Amino acid sequence: MIEYDRILVRYGELSTKGNNRKVFVRRLEKSVRQLLKDMPEVHISAERDRMFITLNGADYAVIMERLHLIFGIQSYSPVIKVERDIEAIKMMAVALFKRHFTEGKTFKVRTKRADKTFPFDTNDVNLMVGDAIFDAYNDDVEVSMRQPDIEITVEIRQEAAYLSSETVMGQGGMPVSSAGKAMLMLSGGIDSPVAGYLAMKRGVEIEAVHFYSPPYTSERAKQKAIDLTQKLTRYTGDIKIHLVPFTKIQETIKQRIPEGYIMTSTRRFMMRITDELRRQHGGLAIVNGESLGQVASQTMMSMLAINDVTSTPIIRPLITMDKNDIIKIAEEIDTFELSIQPFEDCCTIFTPKQPKTQPRLDKVERFESNVDFDTLIAEALANVETVVVSIESNTGADDAFEGLL
Ligand code: ATP
Ligand code: MG
Repeated sequence: MIEYDRILVRYGELSTKGNNRKVFVRRLEKSVRQLLKDMPEVHISAERDRMFITLNGADYAVIMERLHLIFGIQSYSPVIKVERDIEAIKMMAVALFKRHFTEGKTFKVRTKRADKTFPFDTNDVNLMVGDAIFDAYNDDVEVSMRQPDIEITVEIRQEAAYLSSETVMGQGGMPVSSAGKAMLMLSGGIDSPVAGYLAMKRGVEIEAVHFYSPPYTSERAKQKAIDLTQKLTRYTGDIKIHLVPFTKIQETIKQRIPEGYIMTSTRRFMMRITDELRRQHGGLAIVNGESLGQVASQTMMSMLAINDVTSTPIIRPLITMDKNDIIKIAEEIDTFELSIQPFEDCCTIFTPKQPKTQPRLDKVERFESNVDFDTLIAEALANVETVVVSIESNTGADDAFEGLL
């Protein structure tokens, strides 16, 4: 039986990015190399518009599964390389077809001609290859343009033609860190890991920031943030998490800020500290998991009062999403089960039963001005603990793929 000898990878949106394309392709290549580093026999060659992964004996199915985790890939196919010759193409197409055909299955041929000097155009090739298949079966097969059971793709390039009968959709998005770095405000909840995933998918490199308040929150709650971060590493490799001790600030807020404004003020300090960490670590934006109207701190009035502490761009990937849709993604990226484990959250513990849903900026500013918070912020920053969270293993990558199916 004929065997695939390589995988052809089609890039996503990055191919439209003009001068940036080279950088994008290089980043994508780096991600693929990292993901396949335990397979030294594999050869990777990233060209301007396509990447080829030559198997040299490696199992293509394993690689195909892993590729599903990489941002910036539109689709990919295991292919067989053949001579750039219509007879050779026809022969291999028939062989591929035979591999999949059983009585009653319909087919379609789809050709792409990257090399316009090839003497036949895509229609010609579709027809000629189709005819060859009909001939091989004495016309006892059927074409279906809409929903073929077997789709034979032929990609004609300068150096060769590549044939496949299998195309898998990738994650889409853009290659990791092609857009620069941002700080992800990561709680232990459902939303923020999803927000991080969506930002990463647009090429944002993430450093996580997590606020914790011992002894009100336990070691386990902190570990949960680290575990959630680890789930995200499967898409990008290592991620840093900055753990910010937040107890003193929260206690002080509780003592000195009127009850209705505790939540607003707490969020403002979280944002100020995150912004300072962003500045220290060269980030360009802050990402959080806010979703409009979900809780008291996520009304527009609240956001106005909280956001006032910085002019840094705040990316809110979930802002208009419904909870059900957020949960769906959390399940796909395998963070949901972890997120719903019941550990104390630093915010809920201090949050009054009825926080103001329409806080006034002038008021919260006045309340905060009576207390020397700057010293407390400096102290919190001085005690930040930074952990580099690494991707567990390639087995982890396999599990993640299962989750995405
Ligand atoms: P999540 O599920 O992400 O916790 P949520 O719907 O529970 O979100 P909040 O708890 O009000 O909403 O938090 C809103 C956003 O503020 C979070 O998505 C997160 O980005 C940030 N945030 C909240 N708590 C923390 C924390 N302890 N450390 C870091 N960021 C936090
Ligand atoms: Mg929360």
